Amino acid sequence: MKRPLESIPLTPEPTTIRCPNCGRPGERHHLAHSRLVRTECHHCDYLMITCGETGNVIEAYSPGLYAHAMSA
Ligand SMILES: [Zn+2]
Repeated sequence: MKRPLESIPLTPEPTTIRCPNCGRPGERHHLAHSRLVRTECHHCDYLMITCGETGNVIEAYSPGLYAHAMSA
């Protein structure tokens, strides 16, 4: 799939972080061009995009939390 965001260069080596949603190892990419930080987890599809300068959350998706909220 071709999307405009994919044209933004990523850092060569993503930072390994602990997923805040499921606690398993995830990845943190720094989008150098747009100064955004993308945190993602392939185990649970957790995704969070924050501004690297202000720390503001641009986009966030936590499948576990949403599933819990919907079933409650
Ligand atoms: Zn996760």
